Amino acid sequence: MTAAAQSAAAVRPSTMSPFEQVKKHITDALDAIGVTDAEAEIVMTPNAIRDATLEVETKKGPRKLPAYRVQFNNARGPYKGGIRFHPNADLEEVKALAATMAVKCAVIDVPLGGAKGGVAFDPKEYDRDDIEKISRAYIRAMHPYLGIDIDIAAPDVYTTPEIMGWMLDEYETITGKNEPGMITGKPLVLGGSVGRDTATAQGAVHVLQAYVREQDLDPNNLRVAIQGFGNAGSVIAKLLHEAGYTIIALSDSKGTLHDTNGLDPDRVEEAKKAGGSVTAAAGGGAEALDGTAILALDCDILIPAALDNQIREDNVGSIRAKIILELANNPTTPEADAILAERDVTVIPDVLANAGGVTVSYFEWVQNRQQYYWTKEEVDERLKQKMLAAYATLSARVHAESVSYRDAAYRIGMERIHRAMAQRGRYETH
Ligand code: GLU
Repeated sequence: MTAAAQSAAAVRPSTMSPFEQVKKHITDALDAIGVTDAEAEIVMTPNAIRDATLEVETKKGPRKLPAYRVQFNNARGPYKGGIRFHPNADLEEVKALAATMAVKCAVIDVPLGGAKGGVAFDPKEYDRDDIEKISRAYIRAMHPYLGIDIDIAAPDVYTTPEIMGWMLDEYETITGKNEPGMITGKPLVLGGSVGRDTATAQGAVHVLQAYVREQDLDPNNLRVAIQGFGNAGSVIAKLLHEAGYTIIALSDSKGTLHDTNGLDPDRVEEAKKAGGSVTAAAGGGAEALDGTAILALDCDILIPAALDNQIREDNVGSIRAKIILELANNPTTPEADAILAERDVTVIPDVLANAGGVTVSYFEWVQNRQQYYWTKEEVDERLKQKMLAAYATLSARVHAESVSYRDAAYRIGMERIHRAMAQRGRYETH
């Protein structure tokens, strides 16, 4: 086992691998909608698994980095999904994330399939020049499988608009084409969309607000804890703070910052910029705790906005929130999910909660295809419509079938994928 695989195994006490976890949700949904076992086997098998070893001459010496692109399903449209740079990005994890993307695109109803990419290394150990080399090497290995009508890449954990720009440039240099729509989450100057940077968090806020209205709750009485202060976590902290919620805790990989009277996310961001962690803002009423403490704090809404496998059977007992809004992908294991359901905790699942990111990626792709760019107001309004429509469909299904939001979301998503598969004749042997 590689060192990366060992550390991944160490934080995964679930008896299921990441891909088995997502398959469990998919199987439950396929059972509920009456798909045959033979069809289920076909739809649960990734269409293609691309892997490569990137050989990169870094400032730290030559490196051989495992790289993946898993193309899970394209029955509803071209493959779509981000690329993550993370030491735990092994094949099982990338397969799980590719399947999650397919379900997510179906739940939010954009005409795209599901894929995911990853390079297994720790980007924090390399400088900008090395990251650029690794990004370009990824495209040199994967370019035959990518393209505006084939498979559209995007940012994910520890990948940025700048990295998307390098990847686009490498792709266009190799193919000799101008094809900005082969990747989304690009810098604006290269054909990115306004609003893409805040879309994941903004989409989640629309969904949470719809849930809060439906339950007749008052944001001013709701205390929020957010795990992760990256792109998604820091933006949702600011948006919810503005909307009247009390942000009682924020965390990053180095620690948790807790203040029962509420934190100002802008101030915390400034302190983190200067001091390297949210805990640099400790003082006054704000105390610094260790990184994992965030999950067990007394709050109403817990937002995991970092990595997968955070809420597990071994720590779910300490969670006190009544609402969990999944901004990260696959943050809750199926074992923990079942326990939360028994305890009547509402889990608004990743496949809807964080779908704002891929929704504005879809808008970016549409704009690239048309070479006609929208205003911030147009993007915001269309994102809102998409999120609210998907929430209404989901909520109706939750109540009609008395199931969890996750089960209902997987049923909606898999039903749409299954219909497209059947219509294409993908279950028949030719
Ligand atoms: N990586 C994001 C996700 O997991 C965005 C994917 C995209 O924009 O294609 O949803």
